[in-house]
Amino acid sequence: MVETFKSKPQNIAIYIGPHLRECHFEVREDVESLFKDYKEFIIKRDGKIFINLQGVIKEQLKKEGVNEKNIEGRGECTFDESKYFSFRRDKPQNVESMIAYIGLIK
Ligand SMILES: [Zn+2]
Repeated sequence: MVETFKSKPQNIAIYIGPHLRECHFEVREDVESLFKDYKEFIIKRDGKIFINLQGVIKEQLKKEGVNEKNIEGRGECTFDESKYFSFRRDKPQNVESMIAYIGLIK
């Protein structure tokens, strides 16, 4: 948005939708290594590794200049809430979901 639309990061509002939260986003060490720059969002419990993805996203946005007060997100975990699709919970044969959108308000 900054490059294409010349938006100022401080004018961008972000909404992070329901997603696999740190209660269920368990990863192996190879995936953990992808988050090496965000160690504060890696949670180790019961010998397992979990990632606080929302924390990582917020940190990345803040580094880009987005104001933290303009970042919102619901606390819902898609694994815990059956109204949402969860590959890890349902393990379907075919996956037909994933949506993301960006809007521009002039
Ligand atoms: Zn969960």
